Amino acid sequence: MRCELEPRQAGLVAEVDEALDALGPDAGVRESFKALGTARLLAVHYPAEYGGRGLTVADHATVSERMGLRGLPDVAHLITVQGVGCPILTFGTDAQRRHWLPEITSGRLLASLLLSEYGAGSDLTRITTSAMADGGGWRISGRKTWSLLTEWSQIALCSVRTRQGNSRYDGISLFLVDLNDPGVRINPMPRAAGEPYNEVTLDDVRVSGDALVGELHKGWALLPTVIGFERGGFDYLTRAQSWLAAAAAELGALPCAEQEALAADFARCEFLVDNARALAYHAVATAEGLETNEIVTAYAKLASGMAAQAVTRWAGEELLSVSDGEDGPHRRLLRAAVVEAPELTVSGGAQELQLDLIAEERLIGRTIR
Ligand SMILES: Cc1cc2nc3c(=O)[nH]c(=O)nc-3n(C[C@H](O)[C@H](O)[C@H](O)COP(=O)(O)OP(=O)(O)OC[C@H]3O[C@@H](n4cnc5c(N)ncnc54)[C@H](O)[C@@H]3O)c2cc1C
Repeated sequence: MRCELEPRQAGLVAEVDEALDALGPDAGVRESFKALGTARLLAVHYPAEYGGRGLTVADHATVSERMGLRGLPDVAHLITVQGVGCPILTFGTDAQRRHWLPEITSGRLLASLLLSEYGAGSDLTRITTSAMADGGGWRISGRKTWSLLTEWSQIALCSVRTRQGNSRYDGISLFLVDLNDPGVRINPMPRAAGEPYNEVTLDDVRVSGDALVGELHKGWALLPTVIGFERGGFDYLTRAQSWLAAAAAELGALPCAEQEALAADFARCEFLVDNARALAYHAVATAEGLETNEIVTAYAKLASGMAAQAVTRWAGEELLSVSDGEDGPHRRLLRAAVVEAPELTVSGGAQELQLDLIAEERLIGRTIR
């Protein structure tokens, strides 16, 4: 079963293909992002004045899905456009919007999120990175971790403690930090699969007062929205879809009798991926403006991560052991997927926390759309 895209969304997919096909197969990521930026495709849900098209989050999701399926690093797009750009659009000043958003939509600028620290991943109130007032600006010191693609980025949205407040939720502020500042040190940390994580040390990094996003000391209230912008489930979904496609190709190369023996397992994986896609599209279709409902998003994120893990578990335990063909691109992709998949129920908010959100909703009895 396949959910059909609306004609406008199918048109966007065709535009993505056209822009990428024109570049040829050897184009690098930055070149591809710039081509999509020139075609005003990177953030179609932003207003036209900032390089978007004033379309919906669902339209943007369609573009993201296609980019992921074409092999572009969805994390770079997701964190830049959703994780950093959307908070600037929603909570930033006019000057911040005018300065940063055209850079993002054109594909010239990539951005990172510096939220997590050792001991402060699920509970982001435990951060110890702090900022001291310095004239009209601030000096930031501390250590962030688990940041992805930071070495590609020019700026980062960084959570910082600006005062010891009355409660642990009080006194957190969000700043845009220039990653080229001499006080920023990026230390890559090996990761089981893919690009390394980065530990980012901020040593007396000066930011001006204009770098503050949202209200001083009140950043905690913005964090669920910031993370929600990032958490749509589409990066996990496109992984699940790509891994399922590789498994289908591998399965198709087996003798008929073995294909038949594995057909039911494959169908189960396909069902999980289709189901996750339906939930991910439901989450964006029910968004109000830029904001998706956090419970619906939790369902979508869980479904996508769990579907991707089911595909890799089956591929690793069954399919790859039955098929002993040449080590072509599908086998290599699946083997890397087996290593990467466990992360998918940790990154962007661990599985248990998503389940907590859903459980809390049930107890409170709010209506789930
Ligand atoms: C691939 C990847 C990319 C990431 N990219 C970034 C990034 O770009 N920027 C950034 O700032 N961070 C990033 N992170 C960090 C990510 O947000 C954290 O890993 C995540 O929030 C979990 O935090 P933690 O690693 O400290 O684990 P912990 O919070 O220590 O959790 C460890 C385990 O304990 C469980 N647990 C924690 N609290 C509870 C609870 N209250 N009840 C039940 N179980 C609980 C968790 O579910 C998890 O299974 C990334 C992580 C990954 C894996």
